[in-house]
Amino acid sequence: MEYERERTLLIRSLAEQGVSERTLKAMKKVPRHLFVPSIHASRAYVDSPLPIGHAQTISAPHMVAMMCDLLELKEGQKILEIGAGSGYNAAVMAEIIGKKGQIYSIERLEKLAVFAHENLENAGYSNVEVILGDGSLGWPDNAPYDRICVTASAPDTPHPLIEQLKPGGIMVIPEGEGYQRLYIIRKSPDGEVTKQDWGGVIFVPLVGHHGFNPYDSKRGKK
Ligand code: SAM
Repeated sequence: MEYERERTLLIRSLAEQGVSERTLKAMKKVPRHLFVPSIHASRAYVDSPLPIGHAQTISAPHMVAMMCDLLELKEGQKILEIGAGSGYNAAVMAEIIGKKGQIYSIERLEKLAVFAHENLENAGYSNVEVILGDGSLGWPDNAPYDRICVTASAPDTPHPLIEQLKPGGIMVIPEGEGYQRLYIIRKSPDGEVTKQDWGGVIFVPLVGHHGFNPYDSKRGKK
């Protein structure tokens, strides 16, 4: 296995941080070096974000692990991801939910949607569909979703995402600009929505109809 030593050290460090066995098992299998531009491959198993071009990043492994754990992923689930980026987070979730599950991952930048699609194909993940579009609107075509994973920071929770979450579902979403917090949003079986603050994080902004406005130099809400 390529980068075996680096991978083992990363998994050991994530285990020490309290990441679940289920997520560690998945991350052990996903070749992160296939999800970063080749010039960064040698740093793929360092626990930090890396540039993937177009002013975007692949999230740090501990953040991917944390989000997977907070989502309480289970086999066979249908997941919506906002922000495909490199496709790595989707690949880790795909390992956990297995072949009976399905992931729809939306990316607003065409070059990254192609990058994510190719990386997922090269790594052998056939149950992830990458969609080019504005994920702040969700993806109504396949709603509702068991889980929604948002990997860019929103001004506040986009209402289409709440609507497209299944009763009993969980969403994780970073919110805020500059000072950001990660929230766990749960929809109870009878439709009641609760929002729990997990703590401070740093993500790139969610840009779109219910995100930040790319044309507003003051980075205001659209
Ligand atoms: N999950 C990614 C991975 O594993 O590499 C990391 C994603 S990166 C931190 C956030 C991504 O969200 C970027 O690729 C960015 O282009 C994308 N993004 C920002 N706003 C978006 C939107 N409204 N819809 C879809 N993607 C968006």
